[in-house]
Amino acid sequence: MSNTEILKGLAAIAGEDRVITNADAVAEETKDAIGFRRYERADGVFNVPKALCVVKVDCTETASKVLSFLNANKVKTTPRTGGSSVTQGIEPVEGAVMLDGSDITGIYKIDEENMQVTTGCGMPLQELEDKLNKMGYTTGHSPQSMPLAQMGGLVATRSIGQWSTLYGGMEDLLVGLEAVLADGEIVRIKNVPRRSTGPDLRHLFLGCEGTLGFITEVTIKIFKYKPDERWMCAYQIGSMQDGLDAIREIMVEGYRPAVVRLHDPAEVAMLFNAVTDEGKALLLFLADGPKPIADATGAAVDAIVKKHGAESLGTKPVESWIETRNDISNELEETSEQMHDMGTCVDTCEISASWSDIGKIYEAVCARAAEELENLVVIGGHSSHSYINGTNIYFQFLFQVTEEHTCQEDYMHIIRIIMEESLKRGGSIAHHHGSGKYRTAWMPEEHGSSYPLLYKLKNALDPNGILNEGILLV
Ligand SMILES: Cc1cc2nc3c(=O)[nH]c(=O)nc-3n(C[C@H](O)[C@H](O)[C@H](O)COP(=O)(O)OP(=O)(O)OC[C@H]3O[C@@H](n4cnc5c(N)ncnc54)[C@H](O)[C@@H]3O)c2cc1C
Repeated sequence: MSNTEILKGLAAIAGEDRVITNADAVAEETKDAIGFRRYERADGVFNVPKALCVVKVDCTETASKVLSFLNANKVKTTPRTGGSSVTQGIEPVEGAVMLDGSDITGIYKIDEENMQVTTGCGMPLQELEDKLNKMGYTTGHSPQSMPLAQMGGLVATRSIGQWSTLYGGMEDLLVGLEAVLADGEIVRIKNVPRRSTGPDLRHLFLGCEGTLGFITEVTIKIFKYKPDERWMCAYQIGSMQDGLDAIREIMVEGYRPAVVRLHDPAEVAMLFNAVTDEGKALLLFLADGPKPIADATGAAVDAIVKKHGAESLGTKPVESWIETRNDISNELEETSEQMHDMGTCVDTCEISASWSDIGKIYEAVCARAAEELENLVVIGGHSSHSYINGTNIYFQFLFQVTEEHTCQEDYMHIIRIIMEESLKRGGSIAHHHGSGKYRTAWMPEEHGSSYPLLYKLKNALDPNGILNEGILLV
């Protein structure tokens, strides 16, 4: 089928005004926030493959008809909602159709008895959270991209928020959903507190990054919102490993502060105005109410970290972190332009591993990056999502872009180091941003002998391979 016929067919299904072909508007939809692309954009370069058009669907039935048409004509399709991907997840292959669900929006039901909320896939998380807060509830989900991300994308990437150590990630919050398969079939997974009815089918779509279906409706849990009953405190501690040991003990002893963060000295210098003594790491804790639980958690955290040599810095560093923690989401392109003007590229990359390995991965990555990249300005990181058996490290790096290599080449050199060191020690190469396109090459090693299962799922659910080519599957 020719491009003209595809556009005509889409307009007949979705309405002419919902099929966008203007080159600038289409390019805008494919702007991923991965660091080297932000640098390229500041350089006036746009290297992303061109999509044919954007289709802005406004309901499940239209999404179903659109997918059925695209599948019948084997047209590559890239789903998106908020567009805050940092992994090349919303970059199309040449000629693909961008399937935009941001108009399937709205809060369908706030179920106060059963403590859950149902929304369209295009519901912006920030709006949902603000509305719930006014009613005395919270989603418990607070990713840094809260001002940008929407519910469909959050489920599709297995997102996690800054309050995760208490509330969990999207896998703990998601109750049920509706999705449209590649051939247009609509499937619903009902809302129940738990089920023992075979494999949990929510997980086909959680983290699928649009490769197995298009999520149209999402139901997540809600919690009581008690900001006045919180306990919080910051500490300085001798080293990253001391901090990791202290957090491990907190988790193993059974305490669950909502926020558990450990920033290394490089990040303290970059982000916290050197609030600690030189060379020390920074711990930030916040325990959510009810007050008796928050106070008891706070007392235990205080005793444990002091046993590991930490010294209290009071509540101020936590308060100022809370105030500014999501600013970058609104200032991303501006910050990238400033960095570009200084000839530098900055970004982040997150991995996870068990307690016995995480400190070694952190040390190895920092040492290798410093050794292998002469143009590295700084690499550091933090742990921000902890579990009884391990934690994540969110690396942040800044390098000078030189004439010798493109920005992307040096960027991917650092990523390669992070991927290799994580895999070597049994960690996972992606804690929460997803695979996108930039991590796909490492997916076979990440999944090992279970990797063929992903292909079998893909062949069963999307036999024509129309959905998000190049992501997850090599
Ligand atoms: C400044 C900044 C901070 C961030 N902080 C965090 C953080 O704290 N925690 C975190 O987890 N992530 C974070 N991210 C990453 C990003 O915000 C998340 O991955 C988020 O879940 C993406 O949601 P979105 O609606 O923007 O999705 P999009 O960017 O639109 O899409 C993301 C992926 O999901 C797929 N997709 C989108 N919608 C659908 C759908 N309806 N059905 C099927 N597939 C779909 C896309 O194809 C793509 O692969 C951050 C990003 C930025 C830019």
